[in-house]
Amino acid sequence: KLSKRLETVTSFIHNGMKIADIGSDHAYLPCYAVRKGIAKSAIAGEVVDGPFQSALHQVAKTGLTEHISVRKGDGLEVINPYEVDCIIIAGMGGTLIADILERGKSKLEGVTRLILQPNVGAENVRKWLYHHNWQLIDEKIVEEDGKFYEVLVADFGNPAFPYKNLEKEFLLGPFLLQNKNEAFIKKWELELLQWKNILSKLEKAVDRAKTNEKRKEITKKINIVREELE
Ligand code: SAM
Repeated sequence: KLSKRLETVTSFIHNGMKIADIGSDHAYLPCYAVRKGIAKSAIAGEVVDGPFQSALHQVAKTGLTEHISVRKGDGLEVINPYEVDCIIIAGMGGTLIADILERGKSKLEGVTRLILQPNVGAENVRKWLYHHNWQLIDEKIVEEDGKFYEVLVADFGNPAFPYKNLEKEFLLGPFLLQNKNEAFIKKWELELLQWKNILSKLEKAVDRAKTNEKRKEITKKINIVREELE
């Protein structure tokens, strides 16, 4: 059984796709997707030895060594152009996900779908997609064990999402904004609280001038989110 978070990620894989799961850790996702007959084959990529060994172990245990190739390496360097249809990067920060995509741009040749699940900073992922001709086609937000997870799906070559207010939609997600579910509201209420805390600490700083930029930035975000929660 897969976590709700990884199940949501998996739900966006088209039947028969060849997938690569980058930063696969225990390789639960590729094992599940191949075993259920959703993915035709999979590559599980890992840069750290511990998780890499654990992926190898899990794939062997599930009897899927013929269908899942476990590879050690940094980001997209473990895949060849045109080898997969769909790349999944889940359970990392948005800055790291955007960085992996940026550094591995040449490997995206032939890839039609990206499924990305940033734990924080989804804003950076949306920005990267927007600037590299990847069209956001769907988003989900789920709550699991008191944490909130955003799943972003992007296809190459689709008509661009008609963004109306880039700053707001990058931060909150254009699709998530269309249907503000309970998880969405709870996540942003929590973020608001945290930003207000940071702000009040910055206000008390000895040298207030030094915190000007940061305070401006947070205040702007607070205003954007507040407007949407009202
Ligand atoms: N994707 C799984 C999930 O969502 O449950 C595992 C998430 S785990 C928190 C993040 C994994 O990404 C770690 O195992 C880490 O070693 C791996 N990772 C971090 N940076 C990476 C990179 N540049 N290339 C490949 N793997 C990376």
